[in-house]
Amino acid sequence: MLSKRVQTLSESITIAISSLAKEMKANGEDVISLSAGEPDFDTPKAIKDAAIEAMRKGCGKYTPIPGTNEVLKAIAIKLKRDNNLEYKPSQIITNVGAKHSLFNIIQCLIDEGDEVLIPAPYWVSYPEMTKYASGIPVILNTDESNGFKITAKQLKKAITTKTKLLMLNSPSNPCGTVYTKEDLLELAEVLKGTNIFIASDEIYEKVNYSGNFCATASVSKDMFKRTITINGLSKCGAMPGWRFGYMASANDELNKAVRKLQSQSTSNISSITQAGAIPALLGEVDDEIENMLKSYRERRDYLFKELNNIKGLKTLNPDGAFYLFINCKEIEEDSMKFCKRMLEEIKVATVPGVAFGLEGYFRVSFATDLESIKIATQRLQKFINNY
Ligand code: PMP
Ligand code: GLU
Repeated sequence: MLSKRVQTLSESITIAISSLAKEMKANGEDVISLSAGEPDFDTPKAIKDAAIEAMRKGCGKYTPIPGTNEVLKAIAIKLKRDNNLEYKPSQIITNVGAKHSLFNIIQCLIDEGDEVLIPAPYWVSYPEMTKYASGIPVILNTDESNGFKITAKQLKKAITTKTKLLMLNSPSNPCGTVYTKEDLLELAEVLKGTNIFIASDEIYEKVNYSGNFCATASVSKDMFKRTITINGLSKCGAMPGWRFGYMASANDELNKAVRKLQSQSTSNISSITQAGAIPALLGEVDDEIENMLKSYRERRDYLFKELNNIKGLKTLNPDGAFYLFINCKEIEEDSMKFCKRMLEEIKVATVPGVAFGLEGYFRVSFATDLESIKIATQRLQKFINNY
C-alpha cells in the first residue's frame, strides 16, 4: 500500500526516545530525560508579546510563501549583524523549523544517484532525508582525536563526479564540534572549482562556549555562492514548538525552486510564529539568550567533570550545542542495548550513538535543569558499577 520511498524511511530515533520518555513520565514513572535536544527554558516574553500583539491586530491571514516582508528584513538584518552576510530579503525563505529548510533543500537539489557528503557522527535526519530524495548518503567518518572534524584531505578523497552537496553542522549535534574560520577555509580550498553546494546547518550558532563560531558562507566569496545558510530559533530562541527555521542562499534558481515546492506543500509558515520571531531576530532577547548560555555552560562543565570521573566513560568538552557525546566502548559497544538498559534499569533516557552513525557512544542532552542532571549522574554511576 505505501510508497517505496516512505517504506525505506526510518523514524527519527531522537524524537522516538524523547517521546517515549515523556510518555513514561506522564504515566508516573520517575524518568529523567537527557534525550531531547529541546531547551528546558520558556520562550522569552518579548517573543510571546509580539505574537500576541500580532494576533490582536488580526494577523491570521496567509502570508507570502517565503514569509512577510518584516520577518525577511529582520532575518537579513540578523545575518548581517551577527554573521557579516549580505543576503537580500528576496534570498531568504522561512520554513517550518530548520528541519523543513533542510528537507526542502535536499528535495530541490538531489536527484537519483546524487551523492551527499555527510560527516559522522551526524544529526539523525541527514541520511534519511537524502535517501528520501533518492540520493546516496556518503558518510565521512571523523575521529574523537580530531575533535570529530572532517579534514580537507578526507573531503578531497570523497569527492566524485556525483557529489552534489556537503552537509556541515557547526556547532554540531551530537558532538558540539565547532568549525573555526581556518577549518572552513581549508575545506573551501578543496571545493574551489567544483559545483558542490554546502548546506550549513547553523541552528546551534548561539550555543557556543568558546566564541569560535564562524558562518560558513562568510569565509570567502566562493563559499558565499555555494553555501545555503540554515538557521532558526528552536534552540537559541527557546521556541522549538513554534516551528521557525529559515534558509538563505545566493542561488536564486534554488530559492525559486524551494518557494515553488513550499507553495505546493506547507505554504507559508504560521503567521503568528513569524511575528513572534522578529524581536528575537532583531536582538531584543539577547540578554535572555546570554542567560541560557550561562546555564548551559554550568551544566556542561558539571557533566564533563563528573562523567569523565566514571570509570569506563570518556568525553570531550564540547565547544557548542547542548550535548555530550560519550565514549562507552570500554563498557559496551552496542549503544542501543546500553541505552535501552539504562532507560529500563535507572530510568535515564539518552540517545544511542548508532542513531548518529557511531557505535560505542551515547548522547546526553543537558537542555535539562542542573538538579535533574545531578540525580541522573548519580544513577548513571550506579548503573555503570553494576553493568
Ligand atoms: N539541525 C540540527 C543539527 C538539529 O539538532 C535540529 C534539532 N531538531 C534541527 C536541525 C531541526 O531544528 P528545528 O526544530 O528548527 O526543525
Ligand atoms: N534535534 C533535536 C535532537 O537531536 C530534536 C529532535 C529532532 O528533531 O530530531 O534531539
